[in-house]
Amino acid sequence: MIELDGATGEGGGQILRTALTLSMITGQPFRIANIRANRPKPGLMRQHLVAVQAAAQVCGAEIGETSVGSQTLEFVPKKIKGGEYKFAIGTAGSCTLVLQTLLPALLYADTPSVIQVTGGTHNPMAPPAQFLQRAYARVLADMGATIDIQLNRFGFYPAGGGEVIARIEPCKQLQAIEMMTPGKRLSAYAESFIAGVPANVAKRELECIGTSMGWDESQLLVRGLSGDQGPGNALLVTLEHEHVTEVFCAFGEKMVRAEAVAKHATQQVRHYLASGAALGEHLADQVMLPMALAGSGRFSTDRVSKHATTNAAVIGQFLPVGISFEESREISTCVIAAT
Ligand code: AMP
Repeated sequence: MIELDGATGEGGGQILRTALTLSMITGQPFRIANIRANRPKPGLMRQHLVAVQAAAQVCGAEIGETSVGSQTLEFVPKKIKGGEYKFAIGTAGSCTLVLQTLLPALLYADTPSVIQVTGGTHNPMAPPAQFLQRAYARVLADMGATIDIQLNRFGFYPAGGGEVIARIEPCKQLQAIEMMTPGKRLSAYAESFIAGVPANVAKRELECIGTSMGWDESQLLVRGLSGDQGPGNALLVTLEHEHVTEVFCAFGEKMVRAEAVAKHATQQVRHYLASGAALGEHLADQVMLPMALAGSGRFSTDRVSKHATTNAAVIGQFLPVGISFEESREISTCVIAAT
């Protein structure tokens, strides 16, 4: 039984999700205390509870009495089973974080899987659905895995109601890769997804991006959504390079000017481009787990977050790998090596 303290490092939901994924894959049971201890509302929120229940269902785990607010969990996995699953978060809790928990595990099933998750698809502090589609799934594809993500309906906070479907083909041996440079730029564009919010908000956001990045109109795309998917506004910037695709995002909010939303997005993009690193901070913390499953890997990133170092420590408790960081101001390197 692996013992984890959810208050260590970053102290958020990532410790739990990584533990669930790796427990499913390795068959090692774990016990966690102080779940999300460093968050304003500690313990399981709906999205974490659904991640736990979904993980348990996929591998027939016993989890005992678990509910919203639970701060401890014991998880004893059995065999991962592919197939069709549907999970409803019931709030705007993040669908993509539930998927982040399940996708690597379902690579280890004997049969393909189709998972439908309903809830939030575009939440602050979580990957937007297009990040999974364009950035995460591409890295996994480079490692030999086929994961297809379909975004059927947007779900914004607080209404939720979005729907994402993931299709996963089994792939029990991921190939080790290195991601040290992004390579040549193939395309760059900004999209403002907007539902039930005046269209000029999207126009102003995109104008700001165009001016500050020097981009022309063909790179600035208003994506109007039906009003019933809103209200909500997500500004996404996608940079497709030869070796990697990155997706940065900022959210429109009441009382926040469109220009401020655009500035938040451009700051992330500029930081990433100026560094010359292959991965932005979020993709960095998310590729460590598949790279560790492959047995080794290496990447450069523009920022080593506390999420990344915390995730590295949890991964090291389940898999025979050491994860080290060589940090510097502009560009840092992460090395995953077998121990
Ligand atoms: P936690 O805060 O512990 O629940 O973990 C949040 C997860 O969401 C981490 O894996 C982050 O990398 C990921 N995440 C947060 N914001 C973004 C973003 N803007 N783009 C992609 N991933 C994100």
